[in-house]
Amino acid sequence: MKMKILLPLVSATLLAAPLVHAQPYPNKPVRLVVPFAPGGTTDIVARVVAEKIGGPFGQQMIIENKAGGGGSVGATETAKAAPDGYSLGMATVSTTAANPAINPKIAYNPLTDFTPIINIAATPNVIAVHPSFPARDYKGFIAELKKNPGKYSYASSGTGGIGHLQTELFKNLAGVFMTHIPYRGAGPALNDTVAGQVQVIFDNMPSALPFIRDGRLIPIVVAAPQRLSQLPNVPTFKDVGLEPVNRMAYYGIYGPKGLSKEVVDKVSAAVKATVAMPDVKKRIEDTGSLIVANSPDEFAAQIRAEFDVYKKVVAQQKLTLD
Ligand code: GLU
Repeated sequence: MKMKILLPLVSATLLAAPLVHAQPYPNKPVRLVVPFAPGGTTDIVARVVAEKIGGPFGQQMIIENKAGGGGSVGATETAKAAPDGYSLGMATVSTTAANPAINPKIAYNPLTDFTPIINIAATPNVIAVHPSFPARDYKGFIAELKKNPGKYSYASSGTGGIGHLQTELFKNLAGVFMTHIPYRGAGPALNDTVAGQVQVIFDNMPSALPFIRDGRLIPIVVAAPQRLSQLPNVPTFKDVGLEPVNRMAYYGIYGPKGLSKEVVDKVSAAVKATVAMPDVKKRIEDTGSLIVANSPDEFAAQIRAEFDVYKKVVAQQKLTLD
């Protein structure tokens, strides 16, 4: 008799316990580390997506800015996080390719320490100047730099980042000199350039464009497959004969290595649904950016290819962190 009473109780407990654990992913908010300061393109793309992903994802993505080291501080944190899907990061060209290519001390391997999920968007880059700079176009810009070697500095989103490496490549190919001033992201770099503390900036278009539109920065040359409809009079690096500098940036999502297929599939599907929303799509494309929304394998291949490109740039141009 006793057994008859106990058995149903035991089976009820056994049944209930696995149910708690089997709650499908995501069952709480997910942290999304932005490895640069607020106001830069990584932060902009992350927030545009995070604002609207709650519907398709079923949970919020909470953004945490962890700036420093040209993105490597935040990227290291993502690489070392538990692979449970609740700690993801924004993957950028700086953290996955440029910085690991130039900095042997980076604490992660961009090819083996992450699980790439999706590349959200590719963005054009721009070299822009403060309105007090005595030139308004590419020819005048080069002439002014050549006339005054050492007089001008340029702001970038951080040491070892794409702004740093691409501008050094530009300097080498164009035969000009400017001093590098690294910031903790394009947000603070833009603030100082707009304030006139630094005369030149290399930035990604989504963060620079509002300042260009209201005349607080003058665009000189862009990195984009063709001239941008937003800035039809501004040449591309290809137009001015510097095709190697004509590379776009990218902004995607990855997690630490070892993420489950369930996590990868769910994040990927939710991001795809979010960037297909007309208002999100418009906000990204209005900056001259292209929505990519590719597969995890495609994103992994892209990271590998871009890492190779930057390793070659660093070797051929003999770039160092000094
Ligand atoms: N330029 C940086 C990158 O592409 C991002 C700059 C920023 O978000 O502050 O990785």
